[in-house]
Amino acid sequence: MYAKQNIQRTEGFQRAEQQHGFAMKLMELLVIPTFVIDPQGTVLIWNKACERLTGVPAAEVVGTAEHWRCFYQDRRPTLADLLAQGRGAEIHTLYDQHAHRSEGGGNLCAENWCDMPRVGRRRYLAVDASPIRDDAGRLIAVVETLRDMTDEKRAQVALEQLATRDGLTGLANRRCFDDTLAAEWQRAARQGQALSLLMVDVDNFKQYNDTYGHLGGDDCLQRIASAVASEMRSNDLVARYGGEEFAVILPNQSLKGAAIVAERIRCRVEQLHLPNRGSAQNVVTVSIGAATALAAPEALPCQLIAAADAALYRAKHMGRNRISLPDLEFD
Ligand code: GH3
Ligand code: MG
Ligand code: MG
Repeated sequence: MYAKQNIQRTEGFQRAEQQHGFAMKLMELLVIPTFVIDPQGTVLIWNKACERLTGVPAAEVVGTAEHWRCFYQDRRPTLADLLAQGRGAEIHTLYDQHAHRSEGGGNLCAENWCDMPRVGRRRYLAVDASPIRDDAGRLIAVVETLRDMTDEKRAQVALEQLATRDGLTGLANRRCFDDTLAAEWQRAARQGQALSLLMVDVDNFKQYNDTYGHLGGDDCLQRIASAVASEMRSNDLVARYGGEEFAVILPNQSLKGAAIVAERIRCRVEQLHLPNRGSAQNVVTVSIGAATALAAPEALPCQLIAAADAALYRAKHMGRNRISLPDLEFD
């Protein structure tokens, strides 16, 4: 009787061992980079695909809690660690893109650029962390799967660049300018802040083109674009508005502040000392019109553009290489 029970127990144990071995093999050979940690953060499994992705062999990482080193230069938790430690809320601060998926029982999904110290490559990884629980619902392990999305991410960034950047100067394009001005207008109206705009037009540029040819003109526009961009704060936006005209959005900037920025831009361009026989100073210069609005929901951003344009027209009329402001701040 006892002997029979013992034999049954032994058979059951062997079967469980076999199933465990089978599961381990399966995980090992899975083409998706995968690793498993226990609730204390010790690595239990590090499969072949994970070795290939990170350049770190399983023998080096299994049994340690040093797996973060395979993805990052500085110590920080992996997604599996966040899940194991019940720190899912920190996903917002640690990842570029993130989501909680609850239908699968508390999964975490996130995307990040990882510098992968061992392989010396920067890869964009999409990561999923899922809890493994016993029959009583206790967490016994966390499995993390990784997908290398670098090519897709680069393609997406390139497409976004194409859609929002001007090909010649690398500045924001007209479409991006329109979208940003509309968004900043709404924000300024909500927060009761001022919004300023500069319209910058290259003086006598037709003459420059006539002297140096269209390619020489293109080069000149690139230099002016860099000079204007170098005067900006991080929240400002410089765009190529059209041919030889640039627009600068200055959020939360008074007309006085806008005038200071405009004068800095004017000086900066003059100091490039790009020769232009067509201008009075014999160098390339710009004229700048500034306008400021206390954005109101019922007003339209095109009124701000019109006011800056009118100021630019006056700067041209008054002799070029100068800035011009409206008599009154319009609101
Ligand atoms: P003003 O001082 O009144 O602004 O005179 P301007 O000569 O600058 O103005 P105008 O509008 O007569 O000429 C603008 C010139 O800018 C004509 C056009 O060929 C040139 N232009 C516009 N876009 C480009 C470009 O992408 N590359 C080059 N090289 N030239 C451009
Ligand atoms: Mg011009
Ligand atoms: Mg023009």
